Amino acid sequence: MDKPLIKQHRLSVNHYIYGNEGGAWSNEAHIAKMGGDSNTLCGTPILVANWARQLDVTEAGCPECIDIYMDNVYNELANSMLGDDGEFNLWFVTESNDIADDNGNGIVDHKPNDGTDEYEFQTTRIYTNLKEAEEYMNSVNLQEDGISMVQVEDRHKGEVNNRFLTKTLKVIIEENTDY
Ligand SMILES: [Zn+2]
Repeated sequence: MDKPLIKQHRLSVNHYIYGNEGGAWSNEAHIAKMGGDSNTLCGTPILVANWARQLDVTEAGCPECIDIYMDNVYNELANSMLGDDGEFNLWFVTESNDIADDNGNGIVDHKPNDGTDEYEFQTTRIYTNLKEAEEYMNSVNLQEDGISMVQVEDRHKGEVNNRFLTKTLKVIIEENTDY
């Protein structure tokens, strides 16, 4: 079950559909943030003429834009729900590409992300049961150059479980040859 709570890509009020001529026609319109920079979420330059508007395209089809948008929506949702003690529990999967120290107590290496957002952890999935959330967590292939931390948090207690890569800190011994 992947991103089960939001089935339609309905945009929040501060986002809009953008299409250049080719994109709008082929139903691969992008998503842009109102008052944002001069690119869509996936980095496509925004020109003056918005063909999505002119052609009445009402659905975004660009997979990259949808992915980034959905991640942001999930993140906002998780931020507003974690710890609110709502009547039903939910499990949020959070991912990061930062590297933790050997105890997992801190971040020692901030990896660059895709440049669309400044975050360390991003909520990417929301589940209605712990088992599926943990199955997903355990299926992630942790990589130094990719997702290096996955954690499951629940709506009631916060952190439930996590997996992460650590950086092994090497001790360098320098010998002084004059002695
Ligand atoms: Zn796009």
